[in-house]
Amino acid sequence: MGRWGGFAVTLRQALFGPRVTTEYPEAKRPKPTRFHGRHILNRYEDGMEKCIGCELCAGVCPAQCIYVRGADNPPDAPVSPGERYGFVYEINYLRCIHCDLCVEACPTEAITETKLFEFSFTSRRDAIYTKNELLVDDSGRARRMPWEHWVGDEDEQSSAWVRATASNGEDAYGGRVAWSPELGFGLRAPEAASTDGATSGTQATGPSNPAPMERVGRRAKAKRGER
Ligand code: SF4
Ligand code: SF4
Repeated sequence: MGRWGGFAVTLRQALFGPRVTTEYPEAKRPKPTRFHGRHILNRYEDGMEKCIGCELCAGVCPAQCIYVRGADNPPDAPVSPGERYGFVYEINYLRCIHCDLCVEACPTEAITETKLFEFSFTSRRDAIYTKNELLVDDSGRARRMPWEHWVGDEDEQSSAWVRATASNGEDAYGGRVAWSPELGFGLRAPEAASTDGATSGTQATGPSNPAPMERVGRRAKAKRGER
């Protein structure tokens, strides 16, 4: 490219190309389907809490930032459908690395992550989210804190990978719904099938698109000169 070629590219893009900038922070670009953001504690359609206080999320958290205490459900006014419920639930966002392992460990899909990452704090107290902040409201939406910058539907799309059709890449699992409905949203749809070229985040399998580990094995064999 000559001396003026670069300017020509810039001018062409500026005058005739599509706009790639957004008026951030007033407008935000859509986040990837499986983006890990601010957590929520979900409820069933009847309003009951999904958390059963099992503490698996706290046990698996590599940053040790979750504190959970379970308690027996009051027989006359149960909080969750199980024997126990999450009596205390806290996440310390000064430690959280948004790895989503807590979401993966949860047996009831109680804890998931929204698409919000624009939240910061001026005090340690604000950074430690309790059930008051984490539990979704009566419409199933995230409770929006004054220091959080929500735009649009970032709390509608939570941890999509738990609603994958084929989370391990096997299309045989495509479209199988194995999760429970949520307050305000009902039974969420599976991610788009991976075989039709849609952006599902899953891998299609088969001879033309082998699973990742199979591809690694093939590459290793090719290096060794094997077939
Ligand atoms: S996302 Fe990871 S670091 Fe954050 S609370 Fe969950 S397990 Fe812990
Ligand atoms: S959020 Fe899930 S893993 Fe954590 S205590 Fe509640 S039910 Fe157990």
